[in-house]
Amino acid sequence: MIQIGKENATLFMLVRNWELKDALHSIRQIEDRFNRRFHYPWVFLNDEVFTPEFIRYTTAIASSPTYYDQIPKEHWSVPETVNLTRFGEVLDNMTKNDVIYGGSISYRNMCRFFSGFFFKQPLLQQYKYYWRVEPDTDFSCDIDYDIFEYMRVNKKRYGFTMAIPEFPETIPTLWNTTRDFAMENPQYLVYKNSLKFITDLNSWDDVYNLCHFWTNFEIADMDFYRSEAYQKYFEYLDAALGFFYERWGDAPIHTIAASLFLTTDEIHHFDDIGYTHAPWGRCPSDDESYTSGRCVCDRSQSFDYDTYSCMPRWFGIAPAGKGAQRYRRHT
Ligand code: GDP
Ligand code: MN
Repeated sequence: MIQIGKENATLFMLVRNWELKDALHSIRQIEDRFNRRFHYPWVFLNDEVFTPEFIRYTTAIASSPTYYDQIPKEHWSVPETVNLTRFGEVLDNMTKNDVIYGGSISYRNMCRFFSGFFFKQPLLQQYKYYWRVEPDTDFSCDIDYDIFEYMRVNKKRYGFTMAIPEFPETIPTLWNTTRDFAMENPQYLVYKNSLKFITDLNSWDDVYNLCHFWTNFEIADMDFYRSEAYQKYFEYLDAALGFFYERWGDAPIHTIAASLFLTTDEIHHFDDIGYTHAPWGRCPSDDESYTSGRCVCDRSQSFDYDTYSCMPRWFGIAPAGKGAQRYRRHT
């Protein structure tokens, strides 16, 4: 019998049946680079029923138990409060203006699901930590320490690899709605927050600078989303209907919430992880990580130093590279 991962954690993928090949691609890499040593279980969720093929091949490739479930309709549908005439116009306009995924209803359901509902699903409810894995991603370095143990021991609650600016057309009123929430609920904001990461002036009078953690990779503590602060924030946003009348993404929402409700110390940049999700990839910059991680990524192409990257802003408030590599050497 294999020893199942010892932390209260799971690898989690939201995925469609037709993405099977791309799902296997990501699973194979996580298994080879990480999970063959730690055997954390996999949870797969879908708004439709998984096909026997999807279940058979993903089960075969995993080194740990795999679980599958269908998301209930109430967590994956357009709420009755949405005016369908107005919504139709929004979809048409965004399509005309080439807003990315602007004409898609399923993408909106997906973003809302990741913002407010994934951590409530029965299969995920039992876990504290999750690693969000997307189809067709590359993990180009070994992760030879237990990343979930790292999170717990170092009191980390949100971990990311890349940060980029959001498309402003998708979130015209997200910041104002957030500001209203914060003014009405100042008790939820922590003192050592990361407002400085998401506003250039470190002030509510400033606008959102659009920087967000790229949520196709996330390792985080679901108790953060289950907290009163996050729950109230999500309910406030959901009532404003911006997931539908605009196209609010889970990435700016997770990021703004983490920046306001967590301390900067509770957020971790995994600078030792090589990761690619088209069109961007990042690679560990230091030699120690690159060598001991047996990386295959190109450091000269790392997105961290791209002019489009928000990492310089993050490094401006959190010292670069603290933690994980030291942790790896000493365990
Ligand atoms: P992008 O990374 O923003 O281009 O969006 P993706 O198409 O990769 O979607 C993000 C994640 O949600 C991926 O894990 C997808 O497999 C998943 N996803 C997106 N739309 C749907 C959907 O309609 N149904 C299901 N089951 N998963 C979806
Ligand atoms: Mn994706």
